[in-house]
Amino acid sequence: MTSVHPVAPGTAPAPGPDGAPRVVVVGGGITGLVAAWEAARAGGRVTLLEASGHLGGKVRTERVDGLLVEHGPDSFVAYRPAALELIGALGLAGSVIGVNAGRTVHVRVDGRLLPLPEGMGMVLPTRLGPLVRTPLLTWRHKARASLDLVLPRRLGTADTSIGALLRARLGDGVVERFAQPLVGGIYGAGVDELSLDAVLPTLRTAESEHRSLVLASLTQGRAARRAAGAPGPRPGSPFRSLQDGLGVIVDRLVEVLVELGADVRAASAVTSLVRAPDGTTTVRCADGTCLVAESLVLAVGAPALAHLLAEHAPDAAAALAAIPQGSTTLVTLAYDADLIRRHVGQGWLEAGPAPISGATVSSAKWPGRAPDGVVLLRAFVPGRLGPLGSAPEAQLVAAVAAHVGSVLGASGEPQRWWVDRWPGAMPHYTVGHLDRVAAVEAGMAALPGWHVAGSALHGVGLPECIADGRRAGRLAAACGAQL
Ligand SMILES: Cc1cc2nc3c(=O)[nH]c(=O)nc-3n(C[C@H](O)[C@H](O)[C@H](O)COP(=O)(O)OP(=O)(O)OC[C@H]3O[C@@H](n4cnc5c(N)ncnc54)[C@H](O)[C@@H]3O)c2cc1C
Repeated sequence: MTSVHPVAPGTAPAPGPDGAPRVVVVGGGITGLVAAWEAARAGGRVTLLEASGHLGGKVRTERVDGLLVEHGPDSFVAYRPAALELIGALGLAGSVIGVNAGRTVHVRVDGRLLPLPEGMGMVLPTRLGPLVRTPLLTWRHKARASLDLVLPRRLGTADTSIGALLRARLGDGVVERFAQPLVGGIYGAGVDELSLDAVLPTLRTAESEHRSLVLASLTQGRAARRAAGAPGPRPGSPFRSLQDGLGVIVDRLVEVLVELGADVRAASAVTSLVRAPDGTTTVRCADGTCLVAESLVLAVGAPALAHLLAEHAPDAAAALAAIPQGSTTLVTLAYDADLIRRHVGQGWLEAGPAPISGATVSSAKWPGRAPDGVVLLRAFVPGRLGPLGSAPEAQLVAAVAAHVGSVLGASGEPQRWWVDRWPGAMPHYTVGHLDRVAAVEAGMAALPGWHVAGSALHGVGLPECIADGRRAGRLAAACGAQL
């Protein structure tokens, strides 16, 4: 349970006797909490304002009857260091867990579960043998993909979609059976909409340096294996989590913030911002509270940010409002293990028509997620698959359980379930995203002391949000000090 200071309407933090800058952080998701932590460590007098009653935003962990249920994200990648660095700084390094060894992820094609090839990168295997042998691609798909070895470079300077590049170089088979399930699954969007330059700029570098994406992927695989010091075995899974769930990071951040003297307020929705000629800002909350600050971090997501910036930076607000926001629904199911006939490893991604985009078997993927005898599974219903995600709960759970049950060969219904709806919560970095980011940054340059951060602009993953929050928190503390 997170601890918060009670809201005291009408109060404002006094400027520090030592002239410490007053920093207000708006938004208590992971980005805002990290920004507040960084600003407080840098000497800022910090107040964090979160609209809802829950701190952590999309990060929410629940433990119930020995099951660990993640209602939002359940992991982060280790190859972007910001999450592990934060966890270390919070004294939680000993709680980091990796993915259980030896359990495969599948792609479901035409009703069959086929294993992802060994050493799979974001869109292609990084080893030749698995690429040639994978049953996921037909011989026709493989023949088409091999054209990539001889095709000239296709990219101009303009942004394009990931799908457009891959279809041109490798053909539709690689898109439908690798890229869409893997990349589209993470971003909850279609690869034919997602921006190459914002989401997978490494593909542009790969084409520019190697021309062939297959050769680039094999070269990358060799380099990774050399770096890991092992000639044969594949590098392990990059995914990490915490033994007691990601909510532990939120709880610890709130504890440390309170220790640092920060004022952390839930149920405090910010409704408007007013800039004074001396550069200070009055932050108004829905309950009538007004706070004065030398600097601000706005970590509220694109739609709320567009609203708060509308009168101060209309072009930036318009660019934010133009970022499409996808919806997703997460259905978590717990089955009695005796009912399950087919073992599906750590889960599967769908490469064809289905009511879900994929499912993670949390109890197989992570240690300690469920007691023996229980299979715990997260199924994703992204908005792009149709209206099922917003259907009434009974209808939604019945449809998801019928599909999941048929894949698992289940001889009965799940014993428990949880539904988490995330409407308009997933920023989609579609083609032209970097132009929208540039417009937001240009608008913010005219508002010294105000900093935006979070998943709207520079990356949707937890490590990117954490890195962005730290950057904004540091700037906010430094910027306030200069006034
Ligand atoms: C179902 C799901 C699964 C995911 N899985 C993963 C995963 O496994 N790994 C991964 O790396 N990423 C994952 N993500 C993405 C990741 O969780 C998010 O990108 C990240 O948590 C965003 O953090 P944030 O702090 O920027 O935004 P949020 O968590 O959205 O926080 C923003 C906060 O601002 C508050 N707010 C809004 N308006 C106001 C206002 N006016 N005043 C005050 N407060 C306001 C909101 O209430 C909210 O708490 C997942 C996302 C979803 C939805």
